[in-house]
Amino acid sequence: MKTSRATEAEGVPWVRPAVAALEGYVPGEQPAGTARVVKLNTNENPYPPSPAVRTAIEAEIERLRLYPPPDAAHLRHCAGKLWDVDPAGVVVGNGSDELLVLLLRTFVEPGATVAYPAPTYSLYSTLIEVQGAVVHEVAFPPDFDLPRGLFDVPAALLLVCNPNAPSGTRIDTAALGELARSRRDAVVVIDEAYADFADGDALSLVGSAPNVVVLRTLSKSYSLAGLRVGFALTTPQLARELHKVRDSYNLDRLAQVGAMAALEDQATFRRNRECVRATRARLRAALLTRGYDVPPSETNCVLARSPGRSLLGLMEKLRLEGVLVRWFVALPDALRITVGTDQEIDELLAALDRVGPA
Ligand SMILES: *Cc1c(COP(=O)(O)O)cnc(C)c1O
Repeated sequence: MKTSRATEAEGVPWVRPAVAALEGYVPGEQPAGTARVVKLNTNENPYPPSPAVRTAIEAEIERLRLYPPPDAAHLRHCAGKLWDVDPAGVVVGNGSDELLVLLLRTFVEPGATVAYPAPTYSLYSTLIEVQGAVVHEVAFPPDFDLPRGLFDVPAALLLVCNPNAPSGTRIDTAALGELARSRRDAVVVIDEAYADFADGDALSLVGSAPNVVVLRTLSKSYSLAGLRVGFALTTPQLARELHKVRDSYNLDRLAQVGAMAALEDQATFRRNRECVRATRARLRAALLTRGYDVPPSETNCVLARSPGRSLLGLMEKLRLEGVLVRWFVALPDALRITVGTDQEIDELLAALDRVGPA
């Protein structure tokens, strides 16, 4: 919600100016109650998580009396093995959102600059402002390739969401490696929230470049957005600094064992990933047929564009049809549509055909 900042802070003279000036992040709508909606607005996975998660969490309940392992050693080893990263370079977080906060606290002084290609994940600017740092958005070129401006903007930290949302597009790993090598003055964070849906990733840069941090999350590809588990993959040296600023118990017991169970069940993970990728191809083809521009997507969402028109009205019409999709001020000619089940996508397309000229 856009609110008047000055009036909101009135009567609260104790608040930090950086916080008073904030608008606050607005997450995608999470409908309450039992109303049946086709929810394609927050890039959740439409399939249930591994059944092993339930078993692991149930067995852990009797140990809730005890604090969780502060070093999450088992989970970090499990993640290190899966992604071929030294477990000493793995930091776990309460979602990758928390890891973004820890990265800013660790590497960005108030007043310093954080740069990233835009449009992208809109939480970045909020978190940077909370840290009292300066947001520097570098516009993506029309094809959403790496903006050359990132090579020379002054910045303490560079943030690249790759594959990117809402565009769905991916920047080549070689270009990111080149960026990391030429920007030894900055920490280069590659937010790979969607990498499991993509045709490539930047894991090879972890450890080979001393200033690279790759972020992963279980929220999208492992169907565990509600469990809140993310990973920072980096060098043991950077990880040691990140550990200093995190809460000792930032991942609760249920999250630690649930995450491990999910990572160990690669069969369920792969099956769900392949379903999402297949439906994504079908959704893109159907949107192209209907006259939308749709960049090739390597995420679990697609961007449907209708250049020169605002699709805000279409988003609202779809909502009345019980179909939630996302519209962004920064990309008014587009709708971001999460890849749901085949049935959900059929319902979306039927609703589009009822209400929407392309
Ligand atoms: C969903 C998302 C996240 C948040 O991940 P959590 O682990 O749920 O906090 C981070 N970055 C991007 C780009 C995302 O799309």
